[in-house]
Amino acid sequence: MLEGRLAARPSAVLPDHLQRQLACRQGYRGRYAPSPTGRLHLGNLRTALLSWLITRLQGGEWVLRIDDLDTPRNRAGAEASILSDLRGLGLEWDGPLIRQSERRGLYASVLSALRRQGRLYPCRCSRRMLADVSAPHGSTQVYPGFCRDRATGWGPQQGRLPSWRLRLQPGALLWPEQLAGSGSLQAETEVGDVVLRRADGFLAYHLATAVDELALGITDVVRGSDLWSATAPQVAVMHELAGEPPRYWHLPLWRDEQGQRLSKRDGGFGLDSLVAQGLDAPGVVGLMAASLQLVPAGTRLSSQELLQHCSLEALQTALQRQA
Ligand code: GLU
Repeated sequence: MLEGRLAARPSAVLPDHLQRQLACRQGYRGRYAPSPTGRLHLGNLRTALLSWLITRLQGGEWVLRIDDLDTPRNRAGAEASILSDLRGLGLEWDGPLIRQSERRGLYASVLSALRRQGRLYPCRCSRRMLADVSAPHGSTQVYPGFCRDRATGWGPQQGRLPSWRLRLQPGALLWPEQLAGSGSLQAETEVGDVVLRRADGFLAYHLATAVDELALGITDVVRGSDLWSATAPQVAVMHELAGEPPRYWHLPLWRDEQGQRLSKRDGGFGLDSLVAQGLDAPGVVGLMAASLQLVPAGTRLSSQELLQHCSLEALQTALQRQA
């Protein structure tokens, strides 16, 4: 059903070799994509467990991708601690570890192809200026399009390079959403032209993520509901590349019995602190599964045992109950 969706619509923008690189979707494939900005906390670990579980329940492959393009935010030792925590919980990934920092050539080629086709325009609006004038939509600012039709040029002006924005087509950006309501945002009023290359020269998260979901053949994206609105710009990029979005599972935030968001104080910390409190891997997996009422509180079980115990339908119902 999913196979061949990309091939159905050849891209007008991409040269053949790039098109082939982006059109390799086969079978089910999930991914977990942490940024190496510090230790994973309990909420991140639960997202990783659910991403692994949802993929394995469909007999799929699970890819681990390190989103390390924003180098100033990377922390020494964070990647090693992420790998060790995932292994510690029995969440083994398939294939080689993917690092976005090693894939810059692919993102840059896609960016150049889009630029050559006139799909991008240079933007010289500063963040501060936009904060003053943009209409906020939820927590995101919708770019008002000041530079859309301006001949601003691409070279440095007053010592600054422009950022590059994707010119969004008007209409709804839609994606298959498994948990968090319908996946739909209006391009003009709720999303706005998205930056694909920042003024400081960094390739943007939306570009790299959209390219990777296609190039790595991802069918199921499982991540926190805080990234729900990030989906629309990513879908817009995928459409430019003639790709169809994967299915999204935007997970509810972990709340305690009083409905409060899990904080550092009551468990937002890492696996090492839980181990120091006397919990081992089965204890931590049990804690995470019990938080979704998949098992009774106090249950100890391995990730593999949880996989045997669950069905995709039961998991989806449990997650929808909490959404
Ligand atoms: N790297 C992002 C983060 O750790 C998540 C990206 C994603 O799942 O799309 O917040």
